[in-house]
Amino acid sequence: MTSKIAFLTCHQKQVAVSDPLKSLGFEVEVCDAFNTDELGTFTNEIPRHLSQQQAALKKAQLACELTQANFGLGSEGSFGPHPQVHLLPWNYEVLALWDAQHQHAVYAVHGTPETNYSSQRVTSVEEALSFARLAQFPSHALIMGSPADTYFQKGIQDESAFVKQLETALQSDASVWLETDMRAHMNPTRMNAIAQTALKLQQLLKSSCLQCHLPGYGPTRLIPGALCNVCNCATRLPKGEHWECASCHFQEDKVVDTTVSAANCDYCNP
Ligand SMILES: [Zn+2]
Ligand SMILES: [Zn+2]
Repeated sequence: MTSKIAFLTCHQKQVAVSDPLKSLGFEVEVCDAFNTDELGTFTNEIPRHLSQQQAALKKAQLACELTQANFGLGSEGSFGPHPQVHLLPWNYEVLALWDAQHQHAVYAVHGTPETNYSSQRVTSVEEALSFARLAQFPSHALIMGSPADTYFQKGIQDESAFVKQLETALQSDASVWLETDMRAHMNPTRMNAIAQTALKLQQLLKSSCLQCHLPGYGPTRLIPGALCNVCNCATRLPKGEHWECASCHFQEDKVVDTTVSAANCDYCNP
């Protein structure tokens, strides 16, 4: 039996998620039975305090409401500095699957340094072209200017048009803002990150809670305390995973007997 998953996306993200979900008997249907302005307005109305996971869930629930489907899918990406190495960029993706019948959410998350996310203010065509090369243009699109600029444009994919627009912009402004276009259909690297997230969602959907049998049962945090292989003291490295069901809160600690090198030990290597 095939179950339908409604997915609201204007950026062809279904390309990245359809296959992994199809193998589990889900048919992803892009929902276009709505005015995209409605979603735009909806997105702007999401208060800033919503987390990325909550925003993805809102989209999944909206997909169910608009289509009367039992399942809805929501995707939300964010870009910023790497959590440990702040000079590197970082892409964090969330996919939320909402089961309207059981009022149950399954989240898959994926963080990766593989992103071309960057921006730069340029003062010459040469400078702009070297930024573009690093950003993997033209396979990855660019954005020129800010919404207030007359020359503002998203989704730039053609080099000669890009140069022409730049020359025009640099006649009126001393410098021009450039940034990478992170929308999935304009950015194959981002699309790949969403595909990786979909594979994680596939794994989670195959894993059911031992108590209530709803899918999505998986690790929710790491348990620190792996033992040092020299002094046998507990380190800050994980010795296992804590698994918890989001629905009935059944939980387990899955601890493996593992030792780690003394380089990670606060006693041996303070
Ligand atoms: Zn459960
Ligand atoms: Zn030690």
